Amino acid sequence: MTSENPRVGFTANLPAGFVEPNDDVGKKLLREYGAFFVARGGATPPTKIVFKDEAEVSAFQSKLQKSSENIGGLNMELQSAAMDDLRKALTEAKSSGLSISPRDTDSAKRTYNETVGLWASRVEPALKHWVSKGKITQSDADRIKAMSPYEQVPEVLKLEEKGIFFAKDLSKSIIYSVAPPGTSQHLAMLALDVKEHENPKVRELLAKHHWYQTVVSDLPHFTYLGVPEGELSGLGLKKTADGGRTFWIPDI
Ligand SMILES: [Zn+2]
Repeated sequence: MTSENPRVGFTANLPAGFVEPNDDVGKKLLREYGAFFVARGGATPPTKIVFKDEAEVSAFQSKLQKSSENIGGLNMELQSAAMDDLRKALTEAKSSGLSISPRDTDSAKRTYNETVGLWASRVEPALKHWVSKGKITQSDADRIKAMSPYEQVPEVLKLEEKGIFFAKDLSKSIIYSVAPPGTSQHLAMLALDVKEHENPKVRELLAKHHWYQTVVSDLPHFTYLGVPEGELSGLGLKKTADGGRTFWIPDI
């Protein structure tokens, strides 16, 4: 054995200075959303699981090397490394008669406040619903509503452990519906929501250019990981098949 063994396992491949979560919520988020923390190929992942507010997000985003491109009529901004590979995928798609385009204006970069809006769009109707079903008291609902989004996350996940779910269809965890505020891979500018995600050829082409699916059940969502598929398991990611698709998720 030498001292130059490659680092093995997901945790060993996290960025230098990464603040590892020691609470259940943080650990769950790392498992479900964390693949992008080991992104390579010139990508800069955040060094903590949750950005607390807009100031933290803009401080992080302002230090990144960024690049913009008009894709399908929408202006998208990503980390430069992620955009460079995306441009290669777009060029190749064009020459093979395929289309790769963003779903909406917020499909690449997002601000903290946008993730707060998405979160509230699930939490508020769900609270109303569960109060009407007698599963939550009005005063508990009011208490949760009055909290900051950051404080709401553990409260909501605690209720979900009791089967009181907050996803749009109220049948599964909210985290399969929207990312909790401050945790979205879009804040790191390493994600893209793709309109043509149902086409296996599109998924294959994106994977060839280092864009993968990493959040099971978030079907339009692709993550920039910056390496060929053969190197993903070496970063501590495991291949998971779900609904005929391949997802790469943290092996923790
Ligand atoms: Zn997404």
